[in-house]
Amino acid sequence: MSETMTAPAGAPVPSLVPNDLDAMWMPYTANRDFKAAPRLLAEAEGMTYRTPEGRAVLDGTAGLWCVNAGHGRRQIVDAITAQASRMDYAPSFQMGHPLMFEAASRIAAITPSGLDRIFFTNSGSESADTALKIALAYHRARGQGQRTVLIGRERGYHGVGFGGMSVGGIGANRRQFGSLLPKVDHLPHTHDLARNAFSCGLPAHGAELADALDARVALHGADTIAAVIVEPLAGSAGVLLPPQGYLERLRAACDRHGILLIFDEVITGFGRTGANFAAGRFGVTPDILTMAKGLTNAAVPMGAVAVSNAIHDAIVDGAPGGIELFHGYTYSGHPLACAAAIATIDLHRDEDLPGRVRSLEPVWEAAVHSLRTAPNVIDIRNFGLIGAIELSPRPGQPGARAMAVFKRCFAAGVLVRVTGDIVALSPPLIIETPQIERIVSVLGDAITAERD
Ligand code: PLP
Repeated sequence: MSETMTAPAGAPVPSLVPNDLDAMWMPYTANRDFKAAPRLLAEAEGMTYRTPEGRAVLDGTAGLWCVNAGHGRRQIVDAITAQASRMDYAPSFQMGHPLMFEAASRIAAITPSGLDRIFFTNSGSESADTALKIALAYHRARGQGQRTVLIGRERGYHGVGFGGMSVGGIGANRRQFGSLLPKVDHLPHTHDLARNAFSCGLPAHGAELADALDARVALHGADTIAAVIVEPLAGSAGVLLPPQGYLERLRAACDRHGILLIFDEVITGFGRTGANFAAGRFGVTPDILTMAKGLTNAAVPMGAVAVSNAIHDAIVDGAPGGIELFHGYTYSGHPLACAAAIATIDLHRDEDLPGRVRSLEPVWEAAVHSLRTAPNVIDIRNFGLIGAIELSPRPGQPGARAMAVFKRCFAAGVLVRVTGDIVALSPPLIIETPQIERIVSVLGDAITAERD
């Protein structure tokens, strides 16, 4: 269905000499292991990566949950190229260029109603930190500067900036860095294997976990808490789904106590759950919503924060004059990123990618859950075009089984993602049924081969 770019026939594929590996300190990677046996991707088109040797690898993860419309989309590449030759860069501090206003309007048109003000960043991490700072500035603008406590959730991921890391709840991401932001607390995560294992779609049990916010209010005092930030559906921790009714209850608790609710939609945005944003699919509107990744189909780095008019107006109209928010990035609203974002939004609309996800959902659910009988599978979760297969860990070797499964899949030509002993799937939304079947079949074989 997708029109994609292909490399010109005979174009040289980048190659490596051994020393090339040394200079780069790879992020979130076991550098020594990787460099001993590197896995490289050199080209991509549609659903498929190619290694430098020309081997095809079916993309079961949309890169890092970001290439939602599939690789090498011509409309996006053309828009970036045209903008690069028209104007490479213009500042957005005290200046502007037409595309950044157009991109913001186009984003505001697809965010939940009322979230109409768009602040540009360059990544999901910057979006999280921006959202937290806006929440603090909002309360201060309203004379409630004592509201400084920020509440995240266990196993939550909001990137690697100091703010996002502090409200994040994945232990390994925090432990190496000692104390982070003070005045941060966490709600319990929503993963309840005992009650919800092998649920299809949203799990039935656990809505009451949202009431933990009342306990935090009792501890800190309602008038000290600025915001709660959650992923409506937590991806990085291994696909933890919101129990039915949980987000509604969290919204109600925030409203009761005058606390802002922030949804981090960096991976759930742009069609992944079967709607433009998970907020729409779940019918719960936050006060602030962060995005990145799928916003430009990952062709150019870009993030954004959508903010309610009330928050924007309190900060902007409430300022005495001059600059209203002392925050921004050199590349906020970068022209190439804006061009990519507009082309991506057009593409999602023209191909109705959210609708496609909803129609594929039953096929996806059945395929992912067919792995239930594979050895060592202790849970399977799915929503939209997202799946997770949780494996029992090898005794004394947490994560080793899933990593071995990942390596087998890659060798067999399928890209999956692992976190701990959870295999996560999030393919481009253009996936066809035979490709779903292939991902699940290769994954099933790999899990079976890694039985004890
Ligand atoms: N927030 C969420 C929910 C994410 O999943 C991620 C990345 O996976 C981030 C924030 C950080 O995004 P980035 O890596 O673009 O900084």
